[in-house]
Amino acid sequence: MTTNSQKIIDQTNQYGANNYHPLPVVISKAEGIWVTDPEGNRYLDMLSAYSSVNQGHRHPKIIQALKDQADKVTLTSRAFYSENMGEWYEKVAKVTNKDMILPMNTGAEAVETAIKAARRWAYDVKGVEENQAEIIACVGNFHGRTMAAVSLSSEKDYQRGFGPFLPGIKLIPYGDIEALKAAITPNTAAFLIEPIQGEAGINIPKEGFLPEVAEVCKNENVLFIADEIQTGLCRTGKTFACDWDGVTPDMYILGKALGGGVFPISCVAANRSILGVFEPGSHGSTFGGNPLACAVSVAALEVLEEEKLAERSNELGNYFMEKLKEIDHPHIKEVRGRGLFIGVELHVPARVYCEALKKQGLLCKETHDTVIRFAPPLIISKEDLDWSIQQINEVFSQY
Ligand code: PLP
Repeated sequence: MTTNSQKIIDQTNQYGANNYHPLPVVISKAEGIWVTDPEGNRYLDMLSAYSSVNQGHRHPKIIQALKDQADKVTLTSRAFYSENMGEWYEKVAKVTNKDMILPMNTGAEAVETAIKAARRWAYDVKGVEENQAEIIACVGNFHGRTMAAVSLSSEKDYQRGFGPFLPGIKLIPYGDIEALKAAITPNTAAFLIEPIQGEAGINIPKEGFLPEVAEVCKNENVLFIADEIQTGLCRTGKTFACDWDGVTPDMYILGKALGGGVFPISCVAANRSILGVFEPGSHGSTFGGNPLACAVSVAALEVLEEEKLAERSNELGNYFMEKLKEIDHPHIKEVRGRGLFIGVELHVPARVYCEALKKQGLLCKETHDTVIRFAPPLIISKEDLDWSIQQINEVFSQY
């Protein structure tokens, strides 16, 4: 079916709940780094579905895995074992270097899982008194949209009208080690942090902060949980953003690119001393770790390794960032990032720039009003980055 873009936008606006503010572009096809609208206009995808499509749209190997699995079995539920789940567990355990994995579907569900695991660990292992466990998170965090995730949020817009919220949460300024030390009590179960804050505008903590976090958490018997849903799986130029600081969290939370942008799958990964707190009946999900998701995810992880996408993100990210830093414009406040995970912070709202970039054939999305995020699929070529820079320069010469 080919319908024109305006009709689709009108239908969406008429029947859809108004919980997003998309750019006025309809995507009807995608391949690699390119997406196409129903009228045949082509755009370079600079968002990668919020870093889910690190491997590129419809990567042939991942699509083949999806098709092959669709011809065999798609859903078993966890009432039975499924053929490719064992392989997936082993693969994720190797990538994360953790003993145990617990699969879910979306990022927010994996965050819920991490919080449940941390609370139970606090009661069963650490010895915190029943119902007293505390979680510490950071101002500006984004961990998703479920009740637990919005309870953690410092954004009034994310919370308005949704209370009452989960108790036992404390927030500290991002990157403030003294605040972390002061917030920890004998009831603290975990410190939950994005090693680079994505939705807050690509915020990188100052050097040395994450190693200090790891040390403080270890000394205080507090779990260090890294939400690497957006930063993980090669986006920042290493397998995990934590790798930049040489730190290993007690628990990783993964999602997005774990399914290569083809099928939703998320998980938490930790050692048996932590994830061992779950017993049958304590947690689960009908679709979590379903055969299609596992088959797709194994292929998605293999693509990251085979195509050396971490190295690629690092090299090309450095190149792209240098080019972005060369743009001399009074509205640009700062260019920052790691690998192909780059934010250009403006002194003015970023939306008008994203709309102008769209007209130039580049799809970007503003985050937190004043930041343009550049996060293309990691398979992008240097030539396509050069073309992108031309378009970005063109826009900054006009606005
Ligand atoms: N955590 C982080 C760091 C994220 O960036 C996101 C999504 O943007 C989430 C959690 C929530 O993931 P999902 O939208 O799949 O629930």
